[in-house]
Amino acid sequence: MQTIKEFWVDTDQCTAHYLCIELVPIRFEMSGNGWSVSIRGRECAELNPDEVSEIMWAAAHCPTAAIKVELVTGETVDSASETLKALAKRV
Ligand code: SF4
Repeated sequence: MQTIKEFWVDTDQCTAHYLCIELVPIRFEMSGNGWSVSIRGRECAELNPDEVSEIMWAAAHCPTAAIKVELVTGETVDSASETLKALAKRV
């Protein structure tokens, strides 16, 4: 089931220690200046359930809540959100 509408990294919140890249290297990469990360391929419509699960997992483990996930419900969640923690366990 597709549960993600969009996801992105808030570069002001990212501290660039690259945990997300270690967890999901196919979706996150170091940005050009090395001070944050960028998203590889933002077409959420193309994500399969395993990829959704990986993104939820990375977002739930971001220590600075920099990875934002907009759910199909319109709610935007990050690692500070109980909703994301619950979804990351379930997906
Ligand atoms: S895990 Fe979060 S803070 Fe760390 S590099 Fe990724 S987006 Fe930035």
